[in-house]
Amino acid sequence: MDMQTSFLDRLFESGLLIDTGIDGLYGRSGQFEDVIAAFERLIDVFGGADGAEAMRFPPGMNRAFFEKSGYMKSFPQLAGTVHSFCGSELDHVSLLQCMEVGEDWTKGQEATDIVLTPAACYPLYPTIAKRGNLPKTGGLFDLQSYCFRHEPSKDPARQQLFRMREYVCMGTEQHVTDFRQRWMDRGVEMMKAVGLEVTIDVANDPFFGRAGKMLANNQRDQNLKFELLIPITSAANPTACMSFNYHQDAFGTKWGLNLEDGSVAHTACVGFGLERIALALFHHHGLDVKQWPSSVRKALWG
Ligand code: ATP
Ligand code: ZN
Ligand code: MG
Repeated sequence: MDMQTSFLDRLFESGLLIDTGIDGLYGRSGQFEDVIAAFERLIDVFGGADGAEAMRFPPGMNRAFFEKSGYMKSFPQLAGTVHSFCGSELDHVSLLQCMEVGEDWTKGQEATDIVLTPAACYPLYPTIAKRGNLPKTGGLFDLQSYCFRHEPSKDPARQQLFRMREYVCMGTEQHVTDFRQRWMDRGVEMMKAVGLEVTIDVANDPFFGRAGKMLANNQRDQNLKFELLIPITSAANPTACMSFNYHQDAFGTKWGLNLEDGSVAHTACVGFGLERIALALFHHHGLDVKQWPSSVRKALWG
C-alpha cells in the first residue's frame, strides 16, 4: 500500500475526513474544521492591519464571467458546470425511465447560468471593474470560497471541492509585486509559527494541451507564480499549500480594471489552501490535536 492511501485511510479511520465514496470529495469533522478556523484567525492576525475589504462569494459564479475569464482555454479539464433539468412532463417521464434502466439520464440536462468557482478570486475582477476606476491607493481584497476542480485523486491533499482563502491586490506593478513578496515572507513566518518546515519555489499552472506547455514555461521563466511547499504525502514531491501569483496587467486589461490616472491596473493574488494546511498540520503533528506541541497549539488557539 502506498503512503498516500495510508494517510487517507488514517484520516478516514480517525474521522477527521469522512468518506463519501468519491475521491477528492470529503466531509470534515468538527476537529478538522476547528483547525481551519484557527488557521484563518492566524491569517487575520498577519493580514488584518492591511485593511483589506472582505467579500465572500458562494462556490458558484456567473457563467458569463467564467466564459470571459478564459478558463476554458487554459484549464478545460478542471472546470465544473452546473446543469439542470429544464424539460417538460414528457421529458420527465423519459428521464425517470432512463434512471430506471440504468441509462445515462444526464444527457438532457441543460447548462444553467452558474458554473462552479475554480479559484476564489474569479468572481472578484468583474465585480471591482463595475465600480469604475480604482482609488489612488489601489485595491486590496480578502476572499474565501469553496472551489471546484475536476481532479479526482487518492491524495487527500488533492480534493475536488476545497477552500481557498485569498488576498487580491490591484495597483501599479511595484505595488502588487511588493504585496506578493510581503505575503511570501509572511507565509514562511506563519508556517514556522505552527511548526511546519517549508520551501518556496517557482511554479506553473497545468495549462491544457501542447500549446499549454509554452504558457507554462513562459509563466515559470517570468517568475509569475511561486508556491510555498510542505511535504504531506511525499517528501520528494512536497505539496503546494500557498501560491503567490502575479498576473501582470492581464486581468486588468481583460476586465477593464483601471487606476485613478486611467492606466491599466496590475494584479496579484495569494492563496492559502485551507484543507492542505490542515492536512500538513495533522501529518506533522499527529492526528490527535491534544498531542500537538504546545507552541503550535498556542499559535493557533492562544
Ligand atoms: P497544484 O500544483 O498542487 O495543483 P495549484 O497550482 O493548482 O496547486 P492554485 O491554483 O495556485 O494551486 O490554488 C491556490 C491554492 O489552493 C494552492 O496553493 C493549494 O494550496 C490549493 N489547492 C489547489 N488545488 C487544490 C486541490 N485540488 N485540493 C486542495 N487544495 C488545492
Ligand atoms: Zn487568485
Ligand atoms: Mg492544480
